[in-house]
Amino acid sequence: MGPIPPYFDATPTGHLRIGGKEAGDWLEEGDAPLFVYSADVVRQKVARLRSEFPDRVKLHYAVKANPYRPLLEIMSEEVDGLDLASRGELDQVKGLGLPLSMAGPGKSDADLAAALKAGVTIHLESEGEAERALSLGRELSLRPQLAIRINPPFALKGAGMKMGGLASPFGVDADRVPALVRLLVEADADWRGYHIYAGSQSLSADALIESHRATLDLVRSLTEKTGKIPAEVNLGGGFGIPYFPREKELDSAAVGKALADALSDLPAEYADTRFILELGRWLVGEAGIYLTRVLDRKESHGKTFLVTDGGLHHVLAASGNFGQFLRRNYPIANTSRFSEEAQMEASVVGRLCTPLDLLGDEVMLPDTKVGDIIAIFCQGAYGLSASPTAFLGQPSAKEILNDQ
Ligand SMILES: *Cc1c(COP(=O)(O)O)cnc(C)c1O
Repeated sequence: MGPIPPYFDATPTGHLRIGGKEAGDWLEEGDAPLFVYSADVVRQKVARLRSEFPDRVKLHYAVKANPYRPLLEIMSEEVDGLDLASRGELDQVKGLGLPLSMAGPGKSDADLAAALKAGVTIHLESEGEAERALSLGRELSLRPQLAIRINPPFALKGAGMKMGGLASPFGVDADRVPALVRLLVEADADWRGYHIYAGSQSLSADALIESHRATLDLVRSLTEKTGKIPAEVNLGGGFGIPYFPREKELDSAAVGKALADALSDLPAEYADTRFILELGRWLVGEAGIYLTRVLDRKESHGKTFLVTDGGLHHVLAASGNFGQFLRRNYPIANTSRFSEEAQMEASVVGRLCTPLDLLGDEVMLPDTKVGDIIAIFCQGAYGLSASPTAFLGQPSAKEILNDQ
């Protein structure tokens, strides 16, 4: 299994400690499964990023990573803006009072109108969407704030999910961007600049550095063609966290240093351009733990199964069914015996009637009993909201913010 994030340790009685308490104290009897998100870990990550990146790089949070409202409230005190991927997310951030942007293919007229009325910067995914946003702006007598999402001619190398360098439903192909800039400027829209998102879950500082350099080169070549300096350049995200064996933490300090150098090489005309990083997973992924209780321990053909009251309907990615080609184990532990030696091999499964519902495949654990609590780590991003909660009619998980 992968590495347990460094923010968690054992209590003197050998239980997993979450925010000064035993993991089990977060659960009342029968109250599993539960996601516990640590506000402190989120604040530590933001503070680290701020210390590693130059001040002129603004930090946005990608809401789709985790839209749990108490977490959004913490986040809104920490970051400079929120990136949305739907109108539903616009509702979820109501009242948080930060600059907002909205990306995503397939924005309906109602989505665009809601974004216009809320003063959201719309990241245009196509020329057709641009036409609709402009005409809705005229209808509503609102000047649309529009940025162009570019389908970049390069991809983030080694990323868990590559986006760029290929035919894509996301963004406008780079060679057609200058014409679209001209169209927006002539239509008197508030053209904000560019948005480039080249991939997700990268642990390679070199790959991110190269992608930032390629992005800045692309922006400069677009400026040559359009004669217009963008007010904003959203550099995307893609910062990964280690989930699996042998994966190492991203050297974010190296990425920050290289970006500072690259920005200082830019011509003076870019002095007022806002550069933005929009991160989801890196900010919140390690802050979340999923707790589930062992309901049954059984043997079959010489293998031990620990059947829990959780499952892939809460933690789809941990089951390996959220875009992984090869199923691997997320970091997992028995919180009730956190300090005990691992001595049994067991497969931890969920309660859904499908063999896909595998949470830990042949993992080594202490001698685990019915009633023990299993933790799956790295569940702060793409957890509950990215899982098929209605599947099989099992109860949803609870969520709680630990802000002590
Ligand atoms: C999903 C998404 C993000 C966040 O990606 P992470 O890998 O979680 O950091 C950022 N920007 C856009 C446009 C996205 O779609």
